Amino acid sequence: MKAAPFDYIRADSLAQALEKLNQCGGDAKLIAGGQSLVPMMAMRLARPTWLIDINRLDSLKNIQVQSDQVRVGAGVRQRDLEFHPALHSHLPLVAKGLQWVGHEQTRNRGTVGGSLVHADPSAELALAAMVLNVHLSLESETDGARTLTASEFFLGPMFTAVGETEALTDISWPVWQGDRIGAAFEETAIRKGDFAMASAACQIQTKPDGEIARIGFGLGGVDGTPLVFPELAASLLKHKLTPELAKQVAHTAAQSSQPGSDMHASADYRKHLAEALLTRALMTAYRQSQGQSAD
Ligand SMILES: Cc1cc2nc3c(=O)[nH]c(=O)nc-3n(C[C@H](O)[C@H](O)[C@H](O)COP(=O)(O)OP(=O)(O)OC[C@H]3O[C@@H](n4cnc5c(N)ncnc54)[C@H](O)[C@@H]3O)c2cc1C
Repeated sequence: MKAAPFDYIRADSLAQALEKLNQCGGDAKLIAGGQSLVPMMAMRLARPTWLIDINRLDSLKNIQVQSDQVRVGAGVRQRDLEFHPALHSHLPLVAKGLQWVGHEQTRNRGTVGGSLVHADPSAELALAAMVLNVHLSLESETDGARTLTASEFFLGPMFTAVGETEALTDISWPVWQGDRIGAAFEETAIRKGDFAMASAACQIQTKPDGEIARIGFGLGGVDGTPLVFPELAASLLKHKLTPELAKQVAHTAAQSSQPGSDMHASADYRKHLAEALLTRALMTAYRQSQGQSAD
């Protein structure tokens, strides 16, 4: 199928893009990497009358590394973030997650912001954003700027709090301070590069004696949005993680998910996968924080 007819404008500034979005009042879409929007248009699942190209907006392409956060412009290509020299030291979970996002070719074009706004429930960056509880900055011509947390941002499958006349401008990823930090990202997909049937992510900081000082973890692909479990995570603080405890926590988390069934996997199988993947992610991140496994 071919896309429905549309008009195209290449924005020279964010102000121009926001002005055009406002003029079109919901009939326009920003195009970043086009890796999700173009297939959606080709299948006529999206039929914007205007495409506003934001690829030349250098103001959306900055990566600012600070001690407590990394601010990533919405227009930063996934591949540029993947190769940033501070990524592994500052955002180890994002470094792990990015390797699962599509293929080198799609990451060359796909942007960090485009992935988050597209909000596929299996998207790795969306899961990492929830686990690390990022702050997302939005801007519109009429309503100015506002900032949302990840849990305020993701509302459902392919559905976010971004208004029709708003653009995502940048994402602040918190940097965990100190050492003994481990991160793990696990997923199962039909083929390498495909969207995950289920995924699990975990970042842990431990004390020298093995007690958990800080932990965040979540599941992707098994509900309308990536899921995080702050109360379950809090219950692990000051505990040493054993395989039995990891399995128990993963079981509780997976049971609270509501995956769908499709031709690839039943809901029950996805829950089973989620439990297995989360058990593995918890133990891998924990052992890594204790210096027991390097990867
Ligand atoms: C073969 C293939 C495999 C893939 N596998 C995966 C995978 O395993 N995991 C994964 O997560 N993704 C995967 N993807 C999707 C890919 O990661 C896309 O890059 C991403 O989903 C969208 O990013 P984009 O920059 O291409 O956005 P676009 O396709 O340009 O836009 C996507 C949506 O976001 C909106 N948008 C973009 N930028 C902004 C902004 N700054 N402000 C407001 N709205 C904005 C657009 O209007 C559109 O609605 C795959 C894609 C392909 C083609």
